[in-house]
Amino acid sequence: MRRIAIINQKGGVGKTTTTANLGAALALQGRRVLVIDMDAQANLTLALGIEPDPSKPSSYSVLAGTATVGQAIVPTAIPNLRLLPANIDLSGAELELASAMGREFVLRDALTEWNDSERTRTGRDGADYVLFDCPPSLGLLAINSLSSAGEVLITLQTEFLALQGMSKLVEVVQLLKKRLNPELTITGILPCMYDSRKRLAREVLHEIRSYFKGQVLPVSIRSNVKLAEAPSYGKTIFSYAADSSGAQDYMAVAQQLIEREGQWPALAGLPKFDPQAKAPLDAEAQAKKEARKAVRPPPPRKKVPSQVAPQPVPPATTTTPRPSSTLDIPPLPPDAFEILSVLPDAS
Ligand code: ATP
Ligand code: MG
Repeated sequence: MRRIAIINQKGGVGKTTTTANLGAALALQGRRVLVIDMDAQANLTLALGIEPDPSKPSSYSVLAGTATVGQAIVPTAIPNLRLLPANIDLSGAELELASAMGREFVLRDALTEWNDSERTRTGRDGADYVLFDCPPSLGLLAINSLSSAGEVLITLQTEFLALQGMSKLVEVVQLLKKRLNPELTITGILPCMYDSRKRLAREVLHEIRSYFKGQVLPVSIRSNVKLAEAPSYGKTIFSYAADSSGAQDYMAVAQQLIEREGQWPALAGLPKFDPQAKAPLDAEAQAKKEARKAVRPPPPRKKVPSQVAPQPVPPATTTTPRPSSTLDIPPLPPDAFEILSVLPDAS
């Protein structure tokens, strides 16, 4: 399983939007995806059209040990995309976990147990990709996600102060790598809500690219109102506005990840990136399409010669440059993150 934590301790920088839509893009590319809502706001759960419900198993139940991952996972409207939902109960989890034994590894152990049982049952991993939607803090919920992940994807907004807090975040990832999870790497930085018409946004993107040389993904997520509207309908961008720039951008990020799959033997044999992949229409969209068809007048009849030359098919647009290698995390500054500082080294 390729496990990616989507993180930034800043709020409102596109973590949930990225988890939902990148998860959907990968699922539309034939990957079996599990997205995990690790935020008590349950925005990811809502964005995928699922009502947060404290009476049902959730990420909180998994952390509390009252449900297994398998019991808590639910399907979504997108085939191949499953969710480990959250609800308000998760807001108490940080405090409850604080005194638990192995508090940093509760999620990791639960995921491993689930994956092992899936392997025994089906002969393969429970998912190809697991994406963690982290809360806007660096507490135990984020730490549990980072200990469970193999990779980190940092989202940031191309606005004033975008870089503020980044050194702290990189510091925490570095510390985690050293003490808890040696395999953790930063896969990339994903600029979100980018508006190329704004000079400030262009300048900030330039600054981010020069500060984190080679580590910023070549794709930025453009500011797109459809991305902001889709969650209120409980849909991903691919069901809500498949032709929007948001859908194109998240599909391009999925392409970046798929192009690196060679490093994961378990992902060998998955289909190549398909630029034409589309979400199946849901019942409402299907009905609208039928209605449009019904009112549309039939096209005028042409006097067509019996032999029509076939139209040339345009080449697939897969020109996005290959990503840079994973980030070499810079040396750790001396002041350590409180929770982690008391822990022994992983090695
Ligand atoms: P939090 O830290 O509170 O969990 P977050 O980092 O998960 O926030 P999101 O919830 O993904 O951030 O995004 C914040 C807001 O910005 C949401 O209303 C979302 O719909 C909107 N948004 C996200 N990405 C875009 C975009 N590319 N264009 C326009 N709006 C966006
Ligand atoms: Mg969020």
